[in-house]
Amino acid sequence: MTRFDLPKYPGEGPDTSVGVDPALSADRPMIDPFGRRVEYLRVSVTDKCNLRCVYCMPLDGLPWLKREQILTYEEITEIVRVMAGIGLKRVRITGGEPLVRRDLPDLVKMLAAIPGIDDLSLSTNAVLLDEQAEALKDAGIHRMNVSLDSLREERVDAIARRPGSFPRIMAGLDAAERAGFDPIKVNVVLIRGQNDDEIEDFARITRDRPWHVRFIEMMPTGGNLDVSAEQFVSCDEALARIEAIEALEPVTGPFGNGPARYFRFPEAAGTIGVITPMSHNYCDRCNRMRLTADGQLRPCLFGEVQTNLRDPLRAGEELLPHVARTLRIKPERHHLVKGSAAGSGGLVALSQTGG
Ligand code: SAM
Ligand code: SF4
Repeated sequence: MTRFDLPKYPGEGPDTSVGVDPALSADRPMIDPFGRRVEYLRVSVTDKCNLRCVYCMPLDGLPWLKREQILTYEEITEIVRVMAGIGLKRVRITGGEPLVRRDLPDLVKMLAAIPGIDDLSLSTNAVLLDEQAEALKDAGIHRMNVSLDSLREERVDAIARRPGSFPRIMAGLDAAERAGFDPIKVNVVLIRGQNDDEIEDFARITRDRPWHVRFIEMMPTGGNLDVSAEQFVSCDEALARIEAIEALEPVTGPFGNGPARYFRFPEAAGTIGVITPMSHNYCDRCNRMRLTADGQLRPCLFGEVQTNLRDPLRAGEELLPHVARTLRIKPERHHLVKGSAAGSGGLVALSQTGG
């Protein structure tokens, strides 16, 4: 298996459109050709991970990026600073597993100091969160998403394929609550035969715990076609099963609700969200871009379009024209098809782009 390595401008000759874009400035923020305003960047700080979730990363891992290919914290900060000047407001740190990268709170502090960035969040598998939650909060992380695909230890072992992780994940979640993270969103990727019989259990938790449990439909990538085709569960099915317990009411959901639609049991402490990339496309509301660990700016999670920001940055070039160009080529929608890698644009695992 090879790491996806895409031409910058597939099917085209040299790009001549990199130049000054008169439309982008502090007063004319990032709006793509389909009228979508981009104010959210997901920043992957590493392609490595301490878990091997069956739908995400092959058991043997991937051909990892070399250290010199990976953006330094200073380089990430510079890219975010440039984008904050044209309307970027929110940054989510992700990976791979972001907490395996050393001194992550240092990056958080650097990003928190950028004028215009008013929301910093983190996506983590929580294995290392127990020891880092407080430092991350102090550094400036406002909101936390934790991936947890089962409430049963032996199943987490089977899904995440790193036995012994479950107690550490639970300790991480407790530490996040103690540190005062609110909201805490718990992401559950639905997997037929491995956790679909826990949909009701996850939903019931929200009655007492202020968690926002979000069920996610599995997306196909080059590395998970068997799992994503054979073990796919739709969020419509999940909602129907939860409604069989008690009727749900639609709610707005916590801040930063992105593509999720939210519901709640009457009087519940938390909410239930669904993220439906396969069954109900939400690309028309897309407000984001992604920065990979090696400095590719991706206007869509899937597809073959990305712009190398790292090399121009290291060459001392202005970044704004490259960002502007990436905005201009943001695709209208993804073209994922269940059981096929065709729409994923060469992506082997979501860990390569931050999910
Ligand atoms: N390691 C961190 C974590 O697991 O939260 C951050 C990176 S992970 C790639 C980000 C999110 O993508 C997680 O919620 C994970 O469950 C989700 N994810 C990974 N592969 C997926 C897939 N094929 N379909 C749907 N969600 C996926
Ligand atoms: Fe690692 Fe997150 Fe992918 Fe699981 S989903 S393998 S924790 S990057």
